[in-house]
Order: sequence, then C-alpha cells, then structure tokens
Amino acid sequence: MKVGFIGLGRMGNHMARHLAEKGHEVSVFDVVPSAADHLREIPGIKVVNSVTEAARDAEVVGTSLPGPREVEAVVMGPGGLLEKLKPGSTYIDLSTNSVTLVRRLHDELAKKGIDMLDAPVSGGTTGSEAGTLSVMVGGKQEVFERMRPFLECIGSPEKIFYCGPAGAGDVVKLCNNISGIAQMMAVGEVLSLGVKAGVDLKTLCDVIGVSSGNSRWVTGGFQRNLFQDKHAPAFFPVTLSSKDTHLALDLAHDIGVDVSMLEVCGRDSAMAIAKGWGDLNFEAVVKVQEERSGVMLKLPHE
Ligand code: NAD
Repeated sequence: MKVGFIGLGRMGNHMARHLAEKGHEVSVFDVVPSAADHLREIPGIKVVNSVTEAARDAEVVGTSLPGPREVEAVVMGPGGLLEKLKPGSTYIDLSTNSVTLVRRLHDELAKKGIDMLDAPVSGGTTGSEAGTLSVMVGGKQEVFERMRPFLECIGSPEKIFYCGPAGAGDVVKLCNNISGIAQMMAVGEVLSLGVKAGVDLKTLCDVIGVSSGNSRWVTGGFQRNLFQDKHAPAFFPVTLSSKDTHLALDLAHDIGVDVSMLEVCGRDSAMAIAKGWGDLNFEAVVKVQEERSGVMLKLPHE
C-alpha cells in the first residue's frame, strides 16, 4: 500500500518503520525535520516536507501526534488531509485524542468519501518499538477489517480491538488511561498516609503487595521510578498523561457523568505541570502528593 505517516516522535517513529519493513511504501513527515533522521536509510521510506506531500497518492494516512490541536491542524488546516486525500482513501489517527474532535473529523472526511478510524494505542514506547501495541479502534467495522493489515504492522493481532463506531476507540483509550492514573495516584496517597502514620515504606509495600490492596504500582512501577526518585528519561511525560486525563474529564463533563474521584487526577496533573515537572515521566504527578504530605516515598536500591 502507499502510506503517508505524520508525526515521528517516540511512538510514530517506530510505527512508520514497521510499516516500511512490512513492505509498504511510506512517505513520512514531521514538523521537526530531525525526527525523521532514524528513518532516512530504511528501504521503503521517503521523507517528505509537508502534510500535503505525505497525503499525495496515499491510500492510507496515519497520524501519531501529541493531541487534538495538532491533529485538527493536520486534518482541517490549509493543505491538510481533508483537502488533499482522495475519495476512497482512509485516515487512521493513532494519537490519543478528543472524542468530540474525532467524531467531527469522521463526519467531515466522510462528506468527501474518505474513511476514518480513531485508533489510539497502548503499550508505550517499548510496545511501539517491538510492534506489539494494543490498538483500540473506532469507526465502521468494514473499514476496520479492511485496515487490519495496516494495524497489524504496529500492534499484536490478538490486541487489535474493534470498539464500536466513530470515537469508540478514544473512549476506551481515555477510560484506560485515567484508570491507570487514578490507581497510581490513589496508591501514592495510601503510601504517604501509611508512612506518615509511622510504618516504613518497605513494610507497607511488602504487606500490601501480597494483600487485597495490591496494585502494580506497589509491586512494580513505583519500585523502578518514584521510590528511586528516577523520573527521566520521560517515555510518557506528564504533559501527555495530563492531556489524556483532561480529555477523559472533558468527555465526562460533556456527557454529564459525575467522576468526582477522577477530578483530583486533573487537579494534581495540572499542579505537576505548574511546578515545572511536565517533561518528567508521568509518575512524577505523585510528587505533588509527596510535597503536600511532607512524605518522600523513597527506598534504597535493593
Ligand atoms: P511525541 O511528542 O514524541 O511525538 C509527536 C510528534 O509529532 C513529534 O515528533 C512532533 O514534532 C510531531 N508533530 C507535532 N505537530 C505536528 C504537525 N503539525 N505536523 C507534523 N508533525 C507534528 O509524542 P509520542 O510520545 O510519540 O505520542 C504520540 C501520541 O501517542 C500522543 O497522542 C500520545 O498521547 C500517544 N501515546 C503515547 C505513548 C507513550 O508512551 N509515549 C503511549 C501511548 C499513546
């Protein structure tokens, strides 16, 4: 297939490479030209200088962009995909995006005979590098089936999920991400409570880790980052996790669902960014609770 791919960051870089390695002709574009440096020598990749060029002759265009603002510009802006893609072609947004925006884009593109899938991913940079991401897809089911070969270049076949009509992929992705963030922040609060009440952090983790309050943050995640005060390199920075948290809250507000527990995730994410921690990996949101409680959640290296 002739493919256009826009957004060559931590995630998109590997996705474009996998598409080329599986035999597709891939025209790639990023506003930061050096983002394409790793791809230049790969057979099947052509580095181009604009969205228009990436869309030219493409049967499918994929985007992996930071969020709604960038996706809207690439699709609706001058020289963008709405203007340049041909009827019969397909647009796949792999970014984590606003449900309202992607539903509007599905509609606008459909008026020109262009199919769209919202297809956000999970699995991080490791999954992207390995081509084993989970993909959560919204749009017409026949378009999903037709685009399986594209999706299987970036995700494991058993983790490519059809979630429902336009927007359903992003609904699932936003629910997934805010679930992860909320559990992480709850564990941060619980541990700061236990330590402040006089029990050491290791004892709390050892006991909770084999009891009903366990979560992967207690036994896994925090052991490698928060407890070691290690917040870089940022594979998934606070800026992106905060964007996802606020998109999930926007969705809840738009459709009138009370999510009082989740609102706190938005508040602390914004606070972490205000404190200058936006470029740290996303567990750094818990530093807000460390400051608030006066408890530093740290363990010596084993
Ligand atoms: P990133 O910031 O590393 O990459 C985004 C790329 O888009 C950058 O190279 C940037 O220069 C480029 N870009 C921005 N505006 C552009 C435009 N108008 N035209 C062309 N290129 C443009 O972000 P990432 O970590 O690769 O994440 C991409 C998407 O995937 C985000 O929506 C993110 O939420 C989602 N995601 C990320 C992870 C992760 O672990 N990093 C995991 C799952 C999902």
